[in-house]
Amino acid sequence: MQNILLVEDSNMFGRIAKKKIEKVFDVPVYWTKSLAETEKILEVGKGSFSMALLDVNLPDAPNGEVIDLVVNRGISSLVFTSNVSDEVRNLVWSKKVADYILKEDPNSLEYIVSAMQQLEKNDENLILVVDDSSMYRSMLSDLLYIRKYRVINGNNGEEGLDILDKYPEIKLVITDYNMPVMDGASFCQKIREKKKSDQLAIIGVSSEDDPSLGARFLKSGADDFIVKGGFLVEEFYSRVQRCLKQIDLFQQIRESAIRDFLTGLYNRRYFFEAGTELVSRCELKGEPLYCAIIDIDNFKSVNDTYGHDVGDIVIKVIAQSMRDLSREEDIVARIGGEEFCILGPVASVDDGLEQCETLRQHIAMTPVAVGDGGSLGVSVSTGVCFALGGDLDNLTKRADECLYRAKQNGKNRVEFVRDELK
Ligand code: GH3
Ligand code: MG
Ligand code: MG
Repeated sequence: MQNILLVEDSNMFGRIAKKKIEKVFDVPVYWTKSLAETEKILEVGKGSFSMALLDVNLPDAPNGEVIDLVVNRGISSLVFTSNVSDEVRNLVWSKKVADYILKEDPNSLEYIVSAMQQLEKNDENLILVVDDSSMYRSMLSDLLYIRKYRVINGNNGEEGLDILDKYPEIKLVITDYNMPVMDGASFCQKIREKKKSDQLAIIGVSSEDDPSLGARFLKSGADDFIVKGGFLVEEFYSRVQRCLKQIDLFQQIRESAIRDFLTGLYNRRYFFEAGTELVSRCELKGEPLYCAIIDIDNFKSVNDTYGHDVGDIVIKVIAQSMRDLSREEDIVARIGGEEFCILGPVASVDDGLEQCETLRQHIAMTPVAVGDGGSLGVSVSTGVCFALGGDLDNLTKRADECLYRAKQNGKNRVEFVRDELK
């Protein structure tokens, strides 16, 4: 986030708002108290403001004139107002602000902070707007830009499908119904053949004169619909936000199902699922792979001496080393309490052994901080199986046998088996 512009003539509200925002976002807030001062600061600081907070009533601008001034420079703006009569709401929304905040509300500062955080996050979201009417398309896109969403436009369903192929990160499609080439419902059905509601949300835009269109959209896989012409900006924003939130929640659920809670590494279940696929891919390509099982040495005595909490810290630190030292193609998982597994393609046995040795040495040389300035040395033993494909259960079993040998031979070492691989 760049600089923030705050325009507020009330000394008290201005002071606490500035302080709060500077504290939460750690960016400078430039505070002006009138339209004239704001004009000056915009001249001086051209292009340096990423967001603005504006008071509707100022001594030299009683009717929101400052909003036009700031919004026309392309700065995303939140507006303060003392009342929310329909008149004020219409005025505020007609001026293309991102949101308004009721000043008297005791939670107004919290609301400002969360609205700003939301705006900052919005530009991670890519939205596709499909409509054959360029006027309507830009109307919707402009509304989305005001809230800092990233937007791509398409003319019709067919073009929309091409764009979706090209930009798999699109999270939301907003589509018209009556379009040449492919109507909105067929477009939704085509999208759903590839992406379900947990990956991509769809909002249909239906016309006022056919009340059945909303139902047709929903039956074709849309998550929601709005009626053209008669919709409120505030309602539109809420629907967009809700659809995107739904995608994020699904994403979080998917992530938490495959991650280990303590370390954030993959869990055992994911390891065997994704690992089996990785092994077959390597086998098909004739690429050698390594399966390394890594076990913390004497971990029971760490727990017994320093307590379970310190034990958890040790597990986390070792997990971080594995993340830092592994390669992009590796699957790194915590498969048991103090047991980890790394599976990945290797150029050669030497290459894989070097990988395991580097990790072992790094862990042995990095003391773990355990509070009160103390630290603790830990080590791991590793068993590695090199192979050209095969069955993952069998690979881990053989890696485990090597691990047993590493423990027998004094711990803090790597033992391996490579049979068919030279
Ligand atoms: P070795 O060197 O032979 O591997 O001995 P060890 O003490 O590391 O192995 P052992 O299997 O005897 O003990 C493993 C201990 O790990 C026992 C268990 O209480 C502890 N443990 C398992 N999961 C966790 C965890 O999530 N947190 C903590 N703090 N301890 C755990
Ligand atoms: Mg149309
Ligand atoms: Mg152990």
